[in-house]
Amino acid sequence: MNSLLPPLPLAGIPPEDEAMRPRVRAFLREHLRDVPPEVRARSWGGFDAEFSRALGREGLLLLTLPKEYGGGGRSNHARFVMVEEMLAAGAPVAGHWVADRQTGPLIQRFGTEAQRRFFLPKMARGEVFFCIGMSEPDAGSDLASVRTRATRTESGWRLNGRKIWTSNAHRSDYICALVRTSGGPEDRHKGLSQLIFSTKLPGIHIRPIRDIAGDSHFCEVLFEDVELPADALIGEEGSGWAQVTAELGYERSGPERIYSSIVLADTWLAEMRAAGIDHPVVNVAAGRIAGRLAVLRAMSLAVAGKLERHESTELEASFVKDLGTEFEQAIPGWIRDALEAVPQFTPSDGLLRTLAFVTRISPTFSLRGGTRQIMRGILARGLGLR
Ligand SMILES: Cc1cc2nc3c(=O)[nH]c(=O)nc-3n(C[C@H](O)[C@H](O)[C@H](O)COP(=O)(O)OP(=O)(O)OC[C@H]3O[C@@H](n4cnc5c(N)ncnc54)[C@H](O)[C@@H]3O)c2cc1C
Repeated sequence: MNSLLPPLPLAGIPPEDEAMRPRVRAFLREHLRDVPPEVRARSWGGFDAEFSRALGREGLLLLTLPKEYGGGGRSNHARFVMVEEMLAAGAPVAGHWVADRQTGPLIQRFGTEAQRRFFLPKMARGEVFFCIGMSEPDAGSDLASVRTRATRTESGWRLNGRKIWTSNAHRSDYICALVRTSGGPEDRHKGLSQLIFSTKLPGIHIRPIRDIAGDSHFCEVLFEDVELPADALIGEEGSGWAQVTAELGYERSGPERIYSSIVLADTWLAEMRAAGIDHPVVNVAAGRIAGRLAVLRAMSLAVAGKLERHESTELEASFVKDLGTEFEQAIPGWIRDALEAVPQFTPSDGLLRTLAFVTRISPTFSLRGGTRQIMRGILARGLGLR
């Protein structure tokens, strides 16, 4: 193997974690009856508070966190199985997604005992929803230049500034925001901190932004002299950059970076099978999807293995995200070409609506969670090229 490449040992799913799959599938069968594919295709953009609470009751949230805080005390592989099944079925996971994927583990790792006891059990029950306030109008890829500022007051902090593209801010109870607590944008990584606070406080104005598919899931969030308690600070003051880097590791390492178009692929394949279509272009498209998915899934599982061993996944997660989003974005085009090759076949309305939806939103796959160019920059640095 080329010595430039970091080792990414393949990992299997231990039998005790694989054994969870039938239970998750049964839960999904019960809760997703009759949901059309164009709705399921939204999956981690789909918000359904009752679904998230039902998952909490089933004990399927915060799977990797200790039981004493309401977590499942399970491995990252168990969480992989749960997330993979949710995405494959197109479950509406947006409600609990942020808490389950990153803010819960962040609080567990950097929070005080009081913060753990306050937030984690509620997250595990699917009772509170979180959003991530990182990006700003002039700080997206260049996150270190955030300008939203918290200044010390006698009772805590006063916050001023603006966040943008904050997914589900208008439906969340809390926001986890990266802010400047000292210095200026020229200080870059120094002087940044993370704060967690209620989205309902006076001085917070949330404006949903409509996307090209007509959905309003992300928002602009304005802070005008918002008074925050001292314990809004999570972790250490000034350690925001290191904490946010750890958080992005959780955000970028999951199987969601390969499954965004899977409901479309499944729906198309089911219709091809039902119609008995046997055409070279269709077969090649199906083979392409299955082959690439198998390799990406193995890579994503390998990242779960590294997480389980508490090893850094920054580089490997960037590989999977870059290759995974390329794959997800290619699927609608492959399916369009395959449909054109069989003009005698009439696709269902559901398939056509799903294809239209995924085609429209697929450009966002390589933006959210860090753009393609940023992933490649991380890879180049990790390989010693910059
Ligand atoms: C669906 C969706 C949901 C999102 N949800 C959230 C959320 O919940 N919370 C949140 O904080 N943010 C969220 N974001 C924002 C997302 O993280 C940013 O859009 C992303 O980081 C890019 O930042 P930007 O939009 O400011 O683009 P810019 O940083 O301005 O980038 C514009 C272009 O320039 C390229 N570029 C920038 N810098 C470099 C460089 N150094 N080298 C090479 N190319 C470069 C980029 O790759 C991109 O193509 C979401 C975005 C999307 C699309």
